[in-house]
Amino acid sequence: MMKQALLYQKLPEKKVRCQVCSHFCLIAPKKRGLCGVRENQKGKLYSLVYGKAIAVNIDPIEKKPLYHFLPGTHSLSIATVGCNFRCLNCQNYDISQGPKPDKPILSQEMPPEKIIQEALANHCPSISYTYTEPTVFLEYALETMKLAKEKGLKNIWVTNGFMSPQTLKLIIPELDAANVDLKSFEESFYQKYCGGQLKPILANLKEMKRKNIWLEITTLIIPGLTDQEKMLKKIALFIKKELGAETPWHISRFFPEVSWQLQNLPATPLETLEKACQIGLQAGLKYVYKG
Ligand code: SF4
Repeated sequence: MMKQALLYQKLPEKKVRCQVCSHFCLIAPKKRGLCGVRENQKGKLYSLVYGKAIAVNIDPIEKKPLYHFLPGTHSLSIATVGCNFRCLNCQNYDISQGPKPDKPILSQEMPPEKIIQEALANHCPSISYTYTEPTVFLEYALETMKLAKEKGLKNIWVTNGFMSPQTLKLIIPELDAANVDLKSFEESFYQKYCGGQLKPILANLKEMKRKNIWLEITTLIIPGLTDQEKMLKKIALFIKKELGAETPWHISRFFPEVSWQLQNLPATPLETLEKACQIGLQAGLKYVYKG
């Protein structure tokens, strides 16, 4: 089912401006935004992935990773194709980059009601919007979140945090917890390796904290790219100051064999992971985990 998109502006010459993520794509008729799953058809913007799951799994919540939210439970985890980033280290690139710029949308029909039924039938107390970037399937996620809430299920986003302020405002009443990637503390890394920007992510993190969303942060340590001690210290201090010392920080290991690109880099040495953990603890974080 094609669904008219939320949060867009109609412009002259049947162009539209999508306001779902901080790219704010200007989209001409018959074209899609950067995520590959929002298309301008005759001056109206449509989501191409509403009700179209590419992945539906029952995962331990620790795999999100969330270590301090409903520990020991399973979370019904869903994704559609598409992503607003193009991280060179992506581990789900077949589905995240699949629909760009105009490739077919691969999926199975999975309306929101069915997701709720699956979660309840499998005793999952939460639903995770994950694997790719939930921001780009906002309409689908939001509808599912509302139904989930009615049934007493919790909603979890695993996200790059690059949604627009408008999107964040829409989801916050339904959102219980999030694991947000903080990939680097350098704008240049986000631009060069992800096709994104750091600043909106930091603002969104602060806002989520202000709205009492349970937050856990993940940083992937890529040798030579995101392993500088000074930079990691900045991340740790940001978490401590803005999100609180009790916010868990997950330090994860890069493996070239599962990476979209960057296969020429080595796996993260264990000493580097250990060093990053020490940086977190020294900055005053209470919970630093090696993934
Ligand atoms: S969600 Fe982001 S990337 Fe996709 S069309 Fe909208 S602004 Fe562009």
